[in-house]
Amino acid sequence: MTLDRRQFTGLTAAAAMVVPQTGDAAELRADPGPLLIATWPFGLAACKQSLATLRKGEGILDAVEQGIRVTEADPAVDSVGVGGAPNAAGVVQLDACIMDGPSRRAGSVAGLEGYPHPISVARRVMQRTKHVMLVGAGAAQFAAEQGFATQQLLTDAQRQRWLEWKARQPLPKPAAIPNHDTIALLGVDAEGRMAGGCSTSGLAYKLPGRVGDSPLIGGGLYVDGDVGAAGATGIGENILRYCGSFLIVEFMRSGLDPTAACRKAVERIVQGERRPAADLSVNFVALDRRGRFGAAGTDQGFRYAVVTKDRAEIMQPVLVET
Ligand code: ASP
Repeated sequence: MTLDRRQFTGLTAAAAMVVPQTGDAAELRADPGPLLIATWPFGLAACKQSLATLRKGEGILDAVEQGIRVTEADPAVDSVGVGGAPNAAGVVQLDACIMDGPSRRAGSVAGLEGYPHPISVARRVMQRTKHVMLVGAGAAQFAAEQGFATQQLLTDAQRQRWLEWKARQPLPKPAAIPNHDTIALLGVDAEGRMAGGCSTSGLAYKLPGRVGDSPLIGGGLYVDGDVGAAGATGIGENILRYCGSFLIVEFMRSGLDPTAACRKAVERIVQGERRPAADLSVNFVALDRRGRFGAAGTDQGFRYAVVTKDRAEIMQPVLVET
């Protein structure tokens, strides 16, 4: 958190040898090296894994998947994968999606129970079916047929927290929003190929069956290989109604840099909601095919991770307060 964001962005842009946004992606980047960006400080380990995957010679989709799997496997991350927060019935229901920039192909699962790596199941939906999204029991059946291993996702710590939450219900007033954080990871490789993924247990103690923005293409994630990628974290209901990630990619398409595009999308949501920005919890990261990146959000505590071949940093996004 020591490096000034503008300095860092400038360095990265310079290293990327920016050229106009036309033609084949490979022509646009003169060996700037790959760049990975992810929501929250826990995204740093994921981005590092993504970089290591690329270094092994695997593709950007592999890198995104392998990076997100690190977060999903970490029980200390209490909002993604194993150790994720359960729903109101005490069941962990996971959401994830993945999108390939060059082809715009995508895969998604929602309300998946019992499988620790929804990002991999989502990728398999993309690769092995004619569909984009599978939900609930159908998603679990598909995961089983594809040979994915099951695992107990509810940790003792999460069960204990859920029991305490349950004992306090019903509350006279709506409860404060419990913890909820998603990993959205975006990457561009040295040839300018982009991909992104998103994985979460969603809002803690959500109604069973509730689906947020994270597995929705255009809501919690969007990748257009000709333009850029965006991903979200926050209260999904406030993100998906504005197609937040798609909106950011469209703003980048119209010429805004990633930071300005994120800021404009957050401002659009704040204006549309007519309530204090601090109540909304909408936060985005974005990356364009030129290797520029940025983030903006309404949460004071929102941070994001950036990893290149030269550095690995936790960054502070633009805070939108009104
Ligand atoms: N966006 C996620 C959801 O609404 C949660 C989060 O990112 O904090 O499910």
